[in-house]
Amino acid sequence: ENKATGIFFTLFLCYTCMKLILCFPNFQSSLQSLNLQGHFTFENNEFASIDFGNQFHYLPSAVLYPKNVSDIASTIRHVWNLGPASGLTVAARGHGHSFQGQAQAAQGIVVNMESLSGQQMQVHMGEYPYVDVSGGELWINVLKECLKYGVAPKSWTDYLHLSVGGTLSNAGISGQAFRHGPQISNVRQLQVVTGKGEVVICSEEKNADLFHGVLGGLGQFGIITRARISLEPAPKMVKWIRVVYSDFSTFAKDQEYLISSKNTFDYIEGLVMINKTNLVNYWRSSFNPEDPVQASQFVSDGKTLFCLELTKNFDPHLQQDDIIANNIDKEIKSLLSQLSYIPSTLFVTEVSYVEFLDRVHAAELKLRSKGLWDLPHPWLNLLVPKSKIQTFAQNVFGHILTNTNHGPVLVYPVNKSKWDNRTSFVTPDEDIFYLVAFLQHAVPSTTENDGLQYLLNLNKRILEYCEEANLGVKQYLPYYTTKEEWRAHFGTRWEVFVQRKLAYDPLAILAPGQRIFQKAI
Ligand code: FAD
Repeated sequence: ENKATGIFFTLFLCYTCMKLILCFPNFQSSLQSLNLQGHFTFENNEFASIDFGNQFHYLPSAVLYPKNVSDIASTIRHVWNLGPASGLTVAARGHGHSFQGQAQAAQGIVVNMESLSGQQMQVHMGEYPYVDVSGGELWINVLKECLKYGVAPKSWTDYLHLSVGGTLSNAGISGQAFRHGPQISNVRQLQVVTGKGEVVICSEEKNADLFHGVLGGLGQFGIITRARISLEPAPKMVKWIRVVYSDFSTFAKDQEYLISSKNTFDYIEGLVMINKTNLVNYWRSSFNPEDPVQASQFVSDGKTLFCLELTKNFDPHLQQDDIIANNIDKEIKSLLSQLSYIPSTLFVTEVSYVEFLDRVHAAELKLRSKGLWDLPHPWLNLLVPKSKIQTFAQNVFGHILTNTNHGPVLVYPVNKSKWDNRTSFVTPDEDIFYLVAFLQHAVPSTTENDGLQYLLNLNKRILEYCEEANLGVKQYLPYYTTKEEWRAHFGTRWEVFVQRKLAYDPLAILAPGQRIFQKAI
């Protein structure tokens, strides 16, 4: 039966490709005949078949470089008018930082969203400041523009060279999410082009179903062309703190305490370190140990350690006033005094707010210079319910993962109350859940413990363990190959997801790289 299905699928693909090839001259000229401000390219489009994961490569037939929202609407309307028989799909490409081809469209049209980013960003001050930005804008540019007005978005990702539309189609999670929720909880309004080519403004008050559907909607219901993001007064500087634990339950208990307290840090994340020789000593190049003598005696050799990473914002102008400066240090000291980390491992540094937020870009530049940025990245992100995190840690960090030398492993909790369950995003069903991110890179090497297949197998083992132990884990930035898996992922929300697809993209034109719906032919 499997063989028959395989043959059928291959014939089906050949048929679709043949149809597109036969229609190609028509297809090309029909796209060129559209009245657009932007333009299409039909050659040299390889970049659109590459993403950060660097494992899946599907070449599109055309790439659209839109100048405005009408260019995108006209293109989608054109594909919509061709009907289901054309087999054509359309994928928005933010910054192409997906891991498994989610922003690709095999033989279809890729919309290069960054071409839209030339559109003006508009900061609106007042009691509740906000910024209107293009869906193709990178968060780093949003930050820089907002800082000119002394304001900034509230919720971030760890890396800012991602597009607004790309992260809002997922969630956008970082160490501020415990307080502000993910980025999708900080959006006031969207402009969206649906799968029928309609341009719709949506918000909590207007077209709310589309608004909620698009947030965390994996690009399935529309292309986000503009977003209105909530802002707050921008911090100037941050105290950036790292402390280390040798026991997971103490580490997790402290993290949970911190995210539940009103008076707490401004950013709370965590890292797992397995078989990382002397990592703590290595930090000394950029972080000051509170007690250098004690810290130099701390050897991390071979032990599994857990690093709590925290920041507290402050203003250096106010720091000139000794009383306030002392207050900040006192406040940090008082917060830290309630935690049970290994005392000799308190590391503190001071950086500007921008430097802190853009910290991964600094690492990117170093990796790029060594040719290590474009390696395959078999990343796996999981959301683990609080009640299961101990079991998860015991088995995964204790048995399955033997080292974290392939890339960082992040672990930190967030409060579910900050997530809006009307959006398309699905979370575990508990008040607190953890983001566990295995951010690995595969080194082309002769040792089998570094290779892509080894890391993919590791991910498989972790997922199988979660399934067998029935932990109620959800994937973040999910990757599935069957409809049954998607149905299980969305659980009781699957029907709503399908209804929204029928309402806003009934021909399944949009974001085919997510592999949730097939375009009907
Ligand atoms: P793309 O990869 O281009 O697109 C992602 C999906 O969204 C695709 O399906 C695409 O078709 C769709 N899409 C893109 N633009 C639009 C649009 N305007 N409208 C509708 N659909 C659209 N995520 C976090 O939450 N927190 C992190 O801290 C974090 N750190 C990261 C660090 C690195 C180095 C990398 C590579 C990724 C990180 N991510 C993080 C993951 C990131 O959120 C995803 O990769 C996400 O897809 C954003 O990338 P992108 O803008 O390049 O989107």
